[in-house]
Amino acid sequence: TELEKNGSIGRARQVLGRVWGFDEFRPLQEEAVTDVIEGRDSVVVLPTGGGKSLCYQVPALVREGMAVVVSPLISLMKDQVDSLVSNGVAAALVNSTQSEEQKRDTAARIRKGEIDLLYLAPERLLTNRTLDFLTTVPISFFAIDEAHCVSNWGHDFRPEYRGLRALKQRFPDASVHAFTATASERVRDDIAEQLNLESPSVLVGSFDRPNLTYRMIRRDNALRQIMNVIDQHRGESGVVYCITRKEVEQTAAALAAEGISALPYHAGLDDQTRQDNQDAFIREKVDVIVATVAFGMGIDKSNVRFVIHAGMPKSIEHYQQESGRAGRDGLASQCILLYSGGDLMTWKRILEMGDRSNFDEAMQNINAMSDLCTGVKCRHAAIVNYFGQEFDVENCNACDVCLGELDTVEDPITLSQKILSCVVRLKERYGVAYTVKVLTGSRDAKIMEAGHDQLSTYNLLGDESASSVRTWVEQLVSQGFLERYGEYNVLRLTSEGRDLLQRKGTVTLTRSTKSSGGRSSRSPV
Ligand code: ADP
Repeated sequence: TELEKNGSIGRARQVLGRVWGFDEFRPLQEEAVTDVIEGRDSVVVLPTGGGKSLCYQVPALVREGMAVVVSPLISLMKDQVDSLVSNGVAAALVNSTQSEEQKRDTAARIRKGEIDLLYLAPERLLTNRTLDFLTTVPISFFAIDEAHCVSNWGHDFRPEYRGLRALKQRFPDASVHAFTATASERVRDDIAEQLNLESPSVLVGSFDRPNLTYRMIRRDNALRQIMNVIDQHRGESGVVYCITRKEVEQTAAALAAEGISALPYHAGLDDQTRQDNQDAFIREKVDVIVATVAFGMGIDKSNVRFVIHAGMPKSIEHYQQESGRAGRDGLASQCILLYSGGDLMTWKRILEMGDRSNFDEAMQNINAMSDLCTGVKCRHAAIVNYFGQEFDVENCNACDVCLGELDTVEDPITLSQKILSCVVRLKERYGVAYTVKVLTGSRDAKIMEAGHDQLSTYNLLGDESASSVRTWVEQLVSQGFLERYGEYNVLRLTSEGRDLLQRKGTVTLTRSTKSSGGRSSRSPV
């Protein structure tokens, strides 16, 4: 009933104030907390920095019995438990770095009912010994952190998460609550299914991060462009993401040579170095960490002022998560993405080398990311819309598009007509690179052999650089006038493209950006 509901959320609010010193839950936290307290299975999707931890930490103190938190990263668990204990919460963890004696001691405290929150990695939880032990203690609920790891569709599938589906059977009285920052509906449904949840409540928070300013800039001189951003943030914390380990090493060295306090982080470094570099960043001994995607999951550092992507990430999900590590404290922060047409090819090559089972889907994700980069729609709107949410702010004032930093072309329709008619002349059988070559009058042997130097559209944009023409082709794709299809990403016109050829419709084409980023940002409130 309503009264009981008020009762449970009322108690939760008291705990929130007493233990954490916060006045109020954020809107979705309140619903998430209510589900946990009332024992209704749930899937909670909140972006990085959205406040997922409190959704299970508070209820753990309100409900009778012990809550078990499943978390994939030992370092993260330790940070969380340390901070809970320092707030006076009876939290504990068991992991492989502990001595037998420590583990025995924790088990004894659990038996006496002294622990409210127990953190475990999935592989430890799922051993028979742990499961048998836990069935002898009253468990209130299980909170599964980074729950997308249970899904093949997610970007970080971990086989050891699959065993978690046994929890509903082994602990029929405990509710199970999944938390993730991955928004896609498919992953969300899959999480519920893989974990065997019983008609779960599904809560999805807003994916907009109003305090972040997004800029997507064509890469020309990466080091200069990166330095330009760092110069605006001297002495502040930031992350530079690169696609490959080699780029990480080179960029970290180049920044150090520029006098920037920067360290590398990638999976090729030995565990100790990686841990040391991460610690140095978290404890502010170093300003900048240069990293591959290996860096970041579960890193709780709230005052990261900028995230630079030196190359394009492989999906909008990745971009949302990685850029989302900026400004978790709610203060204005910058997210700068440097991209080039070549990034798409780099990812394609990486994909081709790996296991190809998800190739088409992975390619779709990469293309969507590329369309976002070359797009001319508000970045906040584009990202939020991608996750299936509305964005009704007219001018966000916090992205290169809305800040008017894009240099638009005078007569975009005529320019578009030239490009679209070239695609038509090529019988919609060629990809971006080839089309650009024809438009700019390349004497490439393939073009000569095919006789495409005889087309009326050959060299039609001979005065423009190939990289400008490439940008425009990509912008026509991202605005839905052209589409790529088939294994070779061949270009063809959409019906909007055919209309535009008749001068019906509107289009925006831009040259590379005027500035590479200022400090302005939409107020976070
Ligand atoms: P997530 O796990 O979703 O990435 P966290 O749980 O780490 O996010 O929370 C992000 C930050 O927001 C933390 O610093 C946390 O203390 C703060 N926070 C969460 N909920 C609240 C709240 N209700 N009031 C004030 N601050 C909050």
